[in-house]
Amino acid sequence: MLKKVLIANRGEIALRILRACRELGIKTVAVHSTADRDLKHVRLADESVCIGPPRSSDSYLNIPAIISAAEVTGADAIHPGYGFLSENADFAERVESSGFVFIGPRAETIRLMGDKISAKEAMQKAKVPCVPGSDGAVPEDAKECMKMAKKIGYPVIIKATGGGGGRGMRVVHQEEELLRSIEMTRSEAKAAFGNDVVYMEKYLAKPRHIEFQVLADEHGNAIHLCERDCSMQRRHQKVVEEAPAPGITEALRNKMGAVVAEACRKIKYRGAGTFEFLYENGEFYFIEMNTRLQVEHPVTELITGVDLVKQQLLIAAGEVLQIRQEDIKPHGHAVECRINAEDPDTFAPSPGKITRYHVPGGLGVRVDSHIYADYIVPPYYDSMIGKLIVHGEDRLTALNRMNGALTEMVVEGIKTNIPLQRRIMSDTAFREGGTDIHYLEKKLGLQ
Ligand code: ADP
Repeated sequence: MLKKVLIANRGEIALRILRACRELGIKTVAVHSTADRDLKHVRLADESVCIGPPRSSDSYLNIPAIISAAEVTGADAIHPGYGFLSENADFAERVESSGFVFIGPRAETIRLMGDKISAKEAMQKAKVPCVPGSDGAVPEDAKECMKMAKKIGYPVIIKATGGGGGRGMRVVHQEEELLRSIEMTRSEAKAAFGNDVVYMEKYLAKPRHIEFQVLADEHGNAIHLCERDCSMQRRHQKVVEEAPAPGITEALRNKMGAVVAEACRKIKYRGAGTFEFLYENGEFYFIEMNTRLQVEHPVTELITGVDLVKQQLLIAAGEVLQIRQEDIKPHGHAVECRINAEDPDTFAPSPGKITRYHVPGGLGVRVDSHIYADYIVPPYYDSMIGKLIVHGEDRLTALNRMNGALTEMVVEGIKTNIPLQRRIMSDTAFREGGTDIHYLEKKLGLQ
């Protein structure tokens, strides 16, 4: 088993990883920027190392500083969490070549799935259904491009192969806009990701975002842990997540689950991962794979009873996956609300000192957060300050439980999106289930 894990992240996920390590008797090393000395997990970790100034590029993205911290503390593995370096293949490679275990997939798998064109090719080979589009990059020749778009059928979406975080894509509604849009996406992608290769896909008008959680060990065992619905989004950022997805039948779940588990075996996947799909008219279309733990992993934990972070640690230690597919039986319904330090109307970030904090509780209520009264939310990082997650025997119970928990939760001194989350929980269409990825923005009058 691993003896000491360095947590290369901050905030709620660093605390989540620390808790899993403790349960397994693994010692922890926290690394933090100068702005994050007062983070809860830094206090709780067995050791902590300051790795640089507040700016992420100087601290949480500073590979040499993180590797040195692992060396001086004698850690044997590094958990990257989500965001920051979690999907950076070069980092995974450096970790392993420096003699540490990277808690995640092999660097080559991260690289394969990090490039959207190669990811799509690998998925097509593994018989995972994909959005119809260009096979590979769009052609150089203008006429060929126009022919291709016509064949796919407008509207189409131009996407950067190196894109991420909802950036590097552009929807094209008619032929006149096509060539200009390709050029613009290319130059934006070059500037943002250092890679100007773009590809084309059919643009789905009203899809839902449904994703499958997987776990795979390095001995060829792979299982799926059902799906999550993350269609409540603003600017491609998830706001609410739930599991299972409303309206997905057991038969469809089993069928798609088997497809993604088989794809894991084909690409020799290792660790926890997520296959993201757009779902429209009863069909799934693969869009990308996240080769890491996700923010919304708790909803899967609550319906399956599997501790995903513990599983990551066990898999990284080279153990054989002890959970079989038939052990995964989803029970009840789970919902997660992301709690952000932001204005609920303008979405402007709202860092500052938390003057008062009351945590909700009761049956089926879980709070994953690093904040406390007197904690100062720094302005340098993502505005998410925690997650409120509830479980109930069915969806409506879970939604009502969430509404109650949101009412109980008090965060003062800064603005939060709790009022928005309460509006969402009471929204008629959302309560019915199955709203598409544009629903929230339309409701907010942003579209
Ligand atoms: P990123 O890596 O930037 O998150 P994704 O490929 O996951 O990029 O796409 C992000 C979001 O963009 C999707 O959740 C969806 O809202 C939208 N999107 C992407 N591809 C399509 C498509 N073919 N049709 C409609 N919407 C799409």
